[in-house]
Amino acid sequence: MNQFNDFNFSGKRALIRVDFNVPIKDGKITDGTRINAALPTIEKVLKDGGSVILMSHWGRPLKDIEKKPHLTLADFTLAPVAVYLAEKLGKPITFIADCMSEEASQKAASLKPGEVMLLENLRYYKQEEKGDRDFAEKLSKLGDVYINDAFGTAHRAHASTAIIADFFSSDKKMFGYLMENEVKAAEQVLHNAQRPFTAIIGGAKVSDKILIIENLLEKATDIIIGGGMAYTFFKAKGCHIGNSLCEDDRLETASNLLQKAAEKGVSIHLPSDSIIADKFDAQANTSSANNTEIPEGWMGLDVGQIACDTFSKVIRNSKTILWNGPMGVFEMEKFQHGTKCIADAVTDATADGAFSLVGGGDSVAAVNKFGYANKVSYVSTGGGAMLEFFEGKVLPGIAAIKQ
Ligand code: AMP
Repeated sequence: MNQFNDFNFSGKRALIRVDFNVPIKDGKITDGTRINAALPTIEKVLKDGGSVILMSHWGRPLKDIEKKPHLTLADFTLAPVAVYLAEKLGKPITFIADCMSEEASQKAASLKPGEVMLLENLRYYKQEEKGDRDFAEKLSKLGDVYINDAFGTAHRAHASTAIIADFFSSDKKMFGYLMENEVKAAEQVLHNAQRPFTAIIGGAKVSDKILIIENLLEKATDIIIGGGMAYTFFKAKGCHIGNSLCEDDRLETASNLLQKAAEKGVSIHLPSDSIIADKFDAQANTSSANNTEIPEGWMGLDVGQIACDTFSKVIRNSKTILWNGPMGVFEMEKFQHGTKCIADAVTDATADGAFSLVGGGDSVAAVNKFGYANKVSYVSTGGGAMLEFFEGKVLPGIAAIKQ
């Protein structure tokens, strides 16, 4: 499916749902990765001789203002994005302060080829998150063609990400380049994985990752479990884990997952040792310990060297790799070694021909931190969306276009 690339946008107004939910501090964008990722789509439309109407959400204005009344809508404006984008595209951007206004309709109707306009944060209206049909229909009138390039919000059935697609015929709605690449990479891993297929699941909590592990038990040959969530598995096996992170209400879940894996012949690799610390602190005293016997008063904050070596061997032997979640508290230097070892193994395997997909906020932050983003096959821009995709759910943003 390459509908977007083959479409000629000459004289057409392309209404593009992007994910410009980027970090902004003091009115400046501190990480423009998501905006940069949407540029090829915007540039293709402009190059064809079309015009562009961009729409996105930013944060959760209405919910946050309710909780913190000192905030106002202005604290959630997309205006800094217009400045950033104008610089990147080398042309002025018309910023529309109210996406439902008469001004929005008039400006959109009079856009000339090569012109770009950006609508203010769609979530200023509660109808956006509610998936309101009238709101979606009104937005749809702004463009001739609808393009969804917002993988980061594809798991939401919101007005601009899913419902709006109902108001365009099938030849007038499509994925942009970014969305197409995300879906292609995710589908390759979930539906076309060459084996051995290793999933590396890390991060803080078992509870966040149960569904993804369960679904991967149907797909992967090996599942590596690291990070804070590993200690719940060790406690479930009756080991002493000291003060390590543990979800006591998930001990049974952890045991069940191990049992299911054994039944299905999937190898689960738990870290046999840890770097332990006497407190959760960058300056903590550290030591190493076997995960069956972490002393009282100590906590595992990274996988140990034996685990690194074992995990690396499994990864280097894989043909498909999915990585979600860090192996330890990689934000602190003393506890980043495990995550870095895994990143090394993933990039080596990729150089040897494996397909590697890194998805989910913190593992993406880790590969960026270590400068490995260009050495893996694909780094996903969608945290929650990628997780839900690998949990086996149908994402409304994808379904709305593919139907
Ligand atoms: P998640 O968002 O679930 O992927 O979790 C990522 C977070 O888990 C990161 O901020 C890590 O610092 C944290 N983390 C990883 N390993 C540990 C650990 N052993 N103990 C406590 N937190 C951890």
